[in-house]
Amino acid sequence: MSDKDVNCTGVVRYIKINRFLSFTLILNLSVYTCLFIFAQKPSLIFPVALGWIVLLGYAIISEVILKIVNNSALYSEKICSSIFNLNITLTSLFLLLITFISGNKEYLFLCIIPIFQAIMEKKSHFSGIILGAGAASIVAAEINNWFSFYYLPANQAPVTSKLLAFLTVLGVLSSLGFTLAKTINFTRGKADYLHNIATTDALTGLLNRREFNLRISEEFARAKRHKSPLSLALFDIDFFKKINDTHGHNAGDAILKELGSLISSNTRTCDIAARYGGEEFALILPETSQSKAYELMDRLRHLVETEIFNKTSRPVKATISVGVAQLDLTDAAPLDFCERADKALYKAKEGGRNRVERAPFGVPKITPSASSKIRAL
Ligand code: GH3
Ligand code: MG
Ligand code: MG
Repeated sequence: MSDKDVNCTGVVRYIKINRFLSFTLILNLSVYTCLFIFAQKPSLIFPVALGWIVLLGYAIISEVILKIVNNSALYSEKICSSIFNLNITLTSLFLLLITFISGNKEYLFLCIIPIFQAIMEKKSHFSGIILGAGAASIVAAEINNWFSFYYLPANQAPVTSKLLAFLTVLGVLSSLGFTLAKTINFTRGKADYLHNIATTDALTGLLNRREFNLRISEEFARAKRHKSPLSLALFDIDFFKKINDTHGHNAGDAILKELGSLISSNTRTCDIAARYGGEEFALILPETSQSKAYELMDRLRHLVETEIFNKTSRPVKATISVGVAQLDLTDAAPLDFCERADKALYKAKEGGRNRVERAPFGVPKITPSASSKIRAL
């Protein structure tokens, strides 16, 4: 998704609605032109001619705007924003003129298009101005009885005029609804995409460290509140530097990637797997005791040991060392919990690697009030 796509899609989409609007109004004017020619209504010449001139001018400007937006050489955020403002202003003006020329107040409903555009692009001052202008023109129309001029199409052919206006409003509003649905989908897709790249590690597809920190805090708080078991496994690829040095950095990357898939496919959906650091991984295991976590991690360790990584280009073997801890009373903060799992991991490294070590349960800390009670005994 390029910058241009992100910032200018709105303009392009709305100009396409304007195209639809111009097209339906061309049909309206064609009917009035036929009335003028075949139904002997010569007084329609003024509004019909003016209508064609305004519509032609509007269509030309809209198409030029679309060309400018589509021309990447001219693209800049500032140009896009100015074009957007120009487009909203022109559409409002155009609708007020068409309302005046035809005498059909129903066309004022179409002011919902620029209002919608302004709201969707968060240009609230514009929607306020357009709403104000629309309200003012309705009041002015009522007070001065503007639309009683005999030569206006609304007064010359009332039934045809009303029918055309209603059909136009209906058609344009439907196309606006369709665009709204597309805009919502686009915005949702963009939000999902941004959330994904902000929380996921690009190489392994697991959560990144930033997201891990958030999730461990959440699970820590939940387990403390519900007094439910929570385990954490930290693991690290053994002698990874040597693997990189012997087989190359690409082979190292392939191991990391394939290990990410191995972890994802061998854990429950409620388990939270993350890339903790360079070749270190973390697995948060909600509702899991230390013995169950040990079983799971020893199975994963065995899977890694028997796996052949980077099969297609340069087969490599690898092993992991794992530290497993279960949340206990001594863990005052998520950091304490991670530290105990990390110590167990180091024990696994010191113990010869390719093994799983359990963190011992801590002794509850003695708080100042508790220690004074002990002394008093
Ligand atoms: P130990 O068994 O004690 O963990 O030894 P080790 O060699 O695995 O540990 P050390 O910390 O000495 O080296 C880690 C290596 O991991 C060094 C670094 O270049 C490599 N590494 C970190 N991130 C990446 C990565 O994204 N891709 C690759 N290919 N290598 C990485
Ligand atoms: Mg290592
Ligand atoms: Mg390491």
